[in-house]
Amino acid sequence: MYVITGATGALGRLAVETLLERVPAEQVRATGRRIGSLDDLAARGVDVRRADFTDPASLRAAFDGATRVLFVSGSEVGQRVPQHRNVVEALAATPTLELVAYTSILHAQSSDLVLAGEHADTERRLADAGLPTVLLRNGWYVENFLTAVGADIEHGMLGASGDGRFDAATRADYAAAAVAALTGAASAGDVLELGGPGFTRAELAAEIGRAAGREVTYTDLPEAEFTAALVRAGLPEAFAAVLADSDRGAAQGLLAAPGDDLARLLGRPAQSWTQVVDEAVRAVL
Ligand code: NDP
Repeated sequence: MYVITGATGALGRLAVETLLERVPAEQVRATGRRIGSLDDLAARGVDVRRADFTDPASLRAAFDGATRVLFVSGSEVGQRVPQHRNVVEALAATPTLELVAYTSILHAQSSDLVLAGEHADTERRLADAGLPTVLLRNGWYVENFLTAVGADIEHGMLGASGDGRFDAATRADYAAAAVAALTGAASAGDVLELGGPGFTRAELAAEIGRAAGREVTYTDLPEAEFTAALVRAGLPEAFAAVLADSDRGAAQGLLAAPGDDLARLLGRPAQSWTQVVDEAVRAVL
């Protein structure tokens, strides 16, 4: 039985859909907290179970009989160490388990990004528990950069990443890679640094401008000023600080992916970021 956590979220949902192209629905279990959003999958024969990372009994039930698990990291930043500990403990109590693939972050063990600490801790717990693990160290989603593309066109882009590269890829490609890893393209012990051929923010701004037919400038700010600008734009302070910290890390190369692990897992090149940008720009013009 294949089990996917976070199937109620964007990445997990894409992974379920991709998995269903490869294996029968009776071999797929989709889990999350808001499982009402998975009714359509249940109607297609997928086993839907509630799994709350704060509820160990729900996790044991969700992993009962599991052979291959896609462990999608949770989204509650700051609470993930105890939450993911519960997941690892439940996986360790699953005798049928053959492989777990965990969605981590690029360079998890050497990165000083605020977001990396919880992933590094989870990776260590998986290893300490002796679980057969594939680490899917995902780079940024291209989609992260396009949530405010209209404002970028209007006012220009701000950031704090200097000439640092974001080797980003689409959620769909990370999901396809995760499914490939789960279904035979990766083996226990693999540590995969995943990302597509990416961009600097200046290159991203230039591409948005090209697609929009007008110049879009990129202004590089000190980290604290970028945080303040994000807060002025309406983001909660803690989230703004995490985003600015990520830009700071990108300037130091922490969001660049070495090698071609993503394309190898996919068996094809990742979708081009320029194509995704062009589609997003067309959608707002
Ligand atoms: P979403 O926010 O769409 O989905 C998050 C998923 O995590 C949901 O299914 C949610 O379940 C589940 N979840 C969160 N907390 C818990 C919990 N306590 N117990 C059980 N499930 C929980 O994120 P994405 O799908 O876009 O991304 C997947 C993960 O990748 C994120 O959770 C985050 O760890 C990471 N991420 C990566 C980014 C990147 O650029 N690489 C950007 C943003 C996040 P439910 O909704 O049912 O509560």
